Amino acid sequence: MTTETKKYTEFTNPNLEILFTAEQIKERVAQLGKQITKDYADKDLVLVGVLKGSCVFLSDLMREIDLKLSIDFMAVSSYKDAQVSSGDVEILKDLTHPIRGKDVIVVEDIVDTGLTLSHLLELLKTRGANSLKVATLLDKPEPRVVKNLKIDYCGFQIPNKFVVGYGLDAANRYRNLPFIAVLKEAQSAE
Ligand code: 5GP
Repeated sequence: MTTETKKYTEFTNPNLEILFTAEQIKERVAQLGKQITKDYADKDLVLVGVLKGSCVFLSDLMREIDLKLSIDFMAVSSYKDAQVSSGDVEILKDLTHPIRGKDVIVVEDIVDTGLTLSHLLELLKTRGANSLKVATLLDKPEPRVVKNLKIDYCGFQIPNKFVVGYGLDAANRYRNLPFIAVLKEAQSAE
């Protein structure tokens, strides 16, 4: 089918099965923001977003936190366009500001095997933060390899399916979807 005759847009792609609508996400993110606002009332909060997947979640979450806070980003290698976890974690971009004495929440898009997050936490534990917690939009517990991983703030638990949207990609596509959807079939190069 050519682009001209295609009857659906990226947002109505029939290969996507919506799991959480934009409204459901907004409501849940607002709840998480309220909880964090309560928990960090007298703290020196830094949100550390893990690029690129957490960018949408982080930007919505921080606007639901009614506190003085700062943000920073790290980038780590993860799936590298494949739909299975390599377990190979490498720091591609480090923080730009020290976190010594700060109260840090690592903001993830999704925790799957937990390998990425546990490596990241090991590294951040050596940086002298006052506290270190985790917020993830999605938790996929079934494939978890790192069993003792503590998630302090979780948006939704999901089944063992590959999901896209709201920052999450498949081969760098779909990050702009306002909802979260299961990708039903692997994509052809459209
Ligand atoms: P883990 O190390 O916990 O297995 O994987 C963490 C990273 O893998 C996430 O930050 C994300 O980039 C990627 N990932 C895991 N599951 C999914 C998924 O269902 N969809 C997408 N798009 N990425 C995923």
